[in-house]
Amino acid sequence: MPASIPTVTIRAGKEKLLRTHHPWGFSGAIQKMSEPAPDGSLVRVVDSRGHFIAYGAYNGKSQTALRLLEWDAEMMPDADWWRTRISRALLARGRILASPGTNACRLIHGEADFLPGIVCDYYAGYLVLQITAAVAEVRKEAVVSFIRDACREFGYPAHGLYERGDLDVRRLEGLSEVSGVRWGSEPPDDLWILENGFSFPCPIRTGQKSGFYCDQRENRLRVSAYCEGKTVLDAFCYSGAFGVHALRGGATAVSFIDSSADAVALSRASETRNFDELERRASFETANIFEYLRAAASRGDTFDCIIIDPPKLAMSSAHLSDALRAYKDLNLWAIRSLAAGGILATFSCSGRVSREEFRRAIAWAATDAGRDIQILETLGQPPDHPVRISFPESEYLKGYVLRVIV
Ligand code: SAH
Repeated sequence: MPASIPTVTIRAGKEKLLRTHHPWGFSGAIQKMSEPAPDGSLVRVVDSRGHFIAYGAYNGKSQTALRLLEWDAEMMPDADWWRTRISRALLARGRILASPGTNACRLIHGEADFLPGIVCDYYAGYLVLQITAAVAEVRKEAVVSFIRDACREFGYPAHGLYERGDLDVRRLEGLSEVSGVRWGSEPPDDLWILENGFSFPCPIRTGQKSGFYCDQRENRLRVSAYCEGKTVLDAFCYSGAFGVHALRGGATAVSFIDSSADAVALSRASETRNFDELERRASFETANIFEYLRAAASRGDTFDCIIIDPPKLAMSSAHLSDALRAYKDLNLWAIRSLAAGGILATFSCSGRVSREEFRRAIAWAATDAGRDIQILETLGQPPDHPVRISFPESEYLKGYVLRVIV
């Protein structure tokens, strides 16, 4: 075993989670280090008796000081280790990219693909890389070339890779904002992707996240199946992908609402691109959804189907109780605005909120609204956003299709 890397000793009692292959070690769990380690560098992690736990990467600027990589003492992660994991992640996306109506998916889903700090999305031949940990930052050049090689190997058409580095989480890791083309050509400003046969704009450089929310691909189909003959509210619409699916599902009218005027413009473009003028059944409004729903309630307006897909409300466990209150309020207002027999498709994308907590928040909302609701479907993440069993936080997207009885 090479002796050249620093050893990090974990406090007694703090090693249990790490032994279950959870990939995060917090700074408070570290008892001592054999020598200083530069940010992102490889370390050997041992328990308080000196027994090997895993290889990991250290970052002294982050609360998540350790990102564990490999639990086999004989397999010290080298360039080949990274190449193999990246190749494995990309290979697993072949089925999605081979489907005729879809050319957007997540290629690498960070820790859940055993690649801490690396998120990579594929949009119609343009890749977007988001790096959220020093371990990946210091290996960026290699990571980019391994992704490019794997695309070539598996025959995924790829014209270029753009890094979006304008993420809040980078600051928590001591990383600066850096964005730009890392290989190949610039993504076009008017890039459109295909999902389930529909076209959506994907502004890679300026849009939210990396340009599009492909994690809802399957849920959009599931929810659209409830929209035949219904009036639908696509709250938090971003580029309008839920609402467009609802229109194709036979909705009589869809209201697209978002607090961002840019998002509303994107959803308007989506609707125009996917439907001809004769079909037009959509309305658009830039509004805060809380105010919108309150105003609707005071007018006595109701919807047959409401889709609630808010941004991440719990940024960390410190924000958990505020986030749960917000989920409750949001769902309360939505439940109040539903017609009898109405459908609520409601989501949480906060990794810190468990499914059980989310479900309880909705139950409280129903109680306060004085209405009985049933769960018709339980929704989650598509296979290009896998959940790592040893990392519960990777199960971030939770959803329900609910029916309000009376
Ligand atoms: N449903 C979308 C993704 C939603 S992302 C899709 O399928 O692609 C969350 C969206 O909520 C963002 O577009 C953001 O601008 C919007 N948003 C955030 N706070 C809001 C608020 N208070 N009222 C309305 N929209 C809000």
